[in-house]
Amino acid sequence: MINIVIKLNRNKKEYLKQYYLQHKEKQIQLNKKYREQHKEQIKEYHKKYYREHKEKINEYYKEHKEQHKKSQKRYVLKTRLNIIEFLGGKCIYCGFSDYRALQIDHINGHGCNEFARLGARKFYKKVKEHPELYQLLCANCNWIKRYENKEVGGRKIEK
Ligand SMILES: [Zn+2]
Repeated sequence: MINIVIKLNRNKKEYLKQYYLQHKEKQIQLNKKYREQHKEQIKEYHKKYYREHKEKINEYYKEHKEQHKKSQKRYVLKTRLNIIEFLGGKCIYCGFSDYRALQIDHINGHGCNEFARLGARKFYKKVKEHPELYQLLCANCNWIKRYENKEVGGRKIEK
């Protein structure tokens, strides 16, 4: 009897997995649509939830601060790597491709700290929407470009 139950459970699990995989895309679309249609409600809900559980949430964050910071860091790094890959993965001047020394450069020279200012997610979105505004430069080429364009600290010096 127990065996049968286990087997049934396993089948069920397998079935759910298959079902999930088959309907994943559809489900994602549906979720997205739902979120768009219920934006305000969801926002309200989150606000309310936060108000009601403020102390617990804050406590949780305090306790998991380090962990949170680490995962945040990982997320930022991952996003940076995604942007680098999206922009071709190497310095457009010299072909250098070690991500540790690659920088995402705003073509007009006004992009300094855009990553920090917008946050990783928004910045990535912006790069994807306007890839023509960005280019990958290695640290060396970036500094050379700055000197040649007389950009210091990311700002263009008006002559
Ligand atoms: Zn270079």
